[in-house]
Amino acid sequence: MIKPDAVADGNMGAILKMIEEAGFKIIAMKYTRLSAELAGKFYAVHSERPFYGELVEYMSSGPIVAAILEKDNAVADFRTLIGATNPAEAAEGTIRKLYAKSIGENAVHGSDSDENAAIEGNFFFSEFERF
Ligand code: GDP
Repeated sequence: MIKPDAVADGNMGAILKMIEEAGFKIIAMKYTRLSAELAGKFYAVHSERPFYGELVEYMSSGPIVAAILEKDNAVADFRTLIGATNPAEAAEGTIRKLYAKSIGENAVHGSDSDENAAIEGNFFFSEFERF
C-alpha cells in the first residue's frame, strides 16, 4: 500500500517507479480511500497498541494505493526495498528513507508474510481484478 502521506505529497509515481524497477510485477492495483472502519479492520492486529487510534485516523485521512505485487521472495525483498518502520532507522535508498515523514506516517505498507499477503490481497481485490 502507498499510504495517505505519500499520496498527498505527490510521491505515488516515484514509489511505483521504484517498485517496478526493483523487479516487482503489479498483479492488481487500486486507488481508493479507507473508511475508519476499514482501516481499523486492516490493522486489527494492532488494536491493543497505544498508537492504534492514531494509525486508524491517519490511514483513513486520504486516498491510498493498494496493490498486489509478484516476485520471487517478494515479502522479504519488498521489506528490504521499503526499509525499517521508523525512517530514522531506514537504510539509504529505501522508500521510507526517501519519502516517510515519521514512524507513523511512513509512506508505504508491506505484508510481513506470504500468509498475510494473501489475506491483505483478498481484503482489497476480487479474483477478477488480478492480472
Ligand atoms: P511495518 O510492518 O513496518 O509497517 O510496522 P508495524 O507492523 O510494526 O506497524 C504497522 C504500522 O503502524 C506502521 O507502518 C506505522 O504506520 C504504524 N506504527 C508503528 N509504530 C508506531 C508508533 O510508535 N507510533 C505511530 N503513530 N504509529 C506507529
